[in-house]
Amino acid sequence: VHEVTLRHVPASGALEGGAVLLTFQDVSEREQAGQMRRDFVANVSHELRTPLTALMGFIETLRGAAKEDPIARERFLSIMEGEAGRMNRLVGDLLSLNRVESQERIRPKTQVDLSELLALTLQSLEPLAKSGGVDMILDLGDDPVKLTGDRDQLKQVFTNLLENAIKYGGDQVRVVLTTEQRDPVLRSAVAKVQVIDNGEGIDPIHLPRLTERFYRADSHRSQALGGTGLGLAIVKHITSRHRGRLRVDSELGQGSCFSVTLPLPA
Ligand code: ADP
Repeated sequence: VHEVTLRHVPASGALEGGAVLLTFQDVSEREQAGQMRRDFVANVSHELRTPLTALMGFIETLRGAAKEDPIARERFLSIMEGEAGRMNRLVGDLLSLNRVESQERIRPKTQVDLSELLALTLQSLEPLAKSGGVDMILDLGDDPVKLTGDRDQLKQVFTNLLENAIKYGGDQVRVVLTTEQRDPVLRSAVAKVQVIDNGEGIDPIHLPRLTERFYRADSHRSQALGGTGLGLAIVKHITSRHRGRLRVDSELGQGSCFSVTLPLPA
């Protein structure tokens, strides 16, 4: 069981009293931020270059050996389409992440009917689930649950979690919406959405890093399934913007449960 606690902690708390300590902290934080930026640029470049190299290779083949072979040409073109799609998804996810990060301190204000949003999200993923032979079950409870949030971003959270559950899961995905009067960590009434699959689960060594950008538990599988490695990073940031929590429970061979807990209006 691993929990990513996403609540903001006041920055000054740990540093009280020591000017020298503050200076050290500043430098090391700046260095750390610089290193993270460099790692990020290196990762993005690598992720973009892989499909680009494939595309360039296929263009060369189409110009040469496959020129007179219509069957091979068709096959190569459809692989190229897949690689271009991968680049497109990556750029789309990078833009989403950028947008969410830039809004992180702005509280979302619109009323969102979470029950309706979940029903719509499941509906739009029905074709993907069907093509993967996955059954989706939605348990919304009795009363509609409403909260203050950013509708499009919340839809993205549940889309990303459901896409993962369909991609990496087994043959069944359950989405359960419940409410609690008082969450022990958030100290308020909350709505909890659990996305539960019966897939192969995730090795516990991967859990602490799962929401890092480009971190993949099974890199080959993710790449083969067209994953960008950014889905859970986006989920984490959007949940954080909503002052919520993300929790991952997983057991190898049994499946995984991703829970998003969001505060309800007082
Ligand atoms: P990706 O685009 O690779 O799916 P994500 O950030 O959405 O990127 O997920 C990160 C990694 O977490 C995935 O590559 C996969 O290894 C693992 N993962 C996510 N959801 C699940 C799940 N439901 N079951 C098993 N593994 C999962």
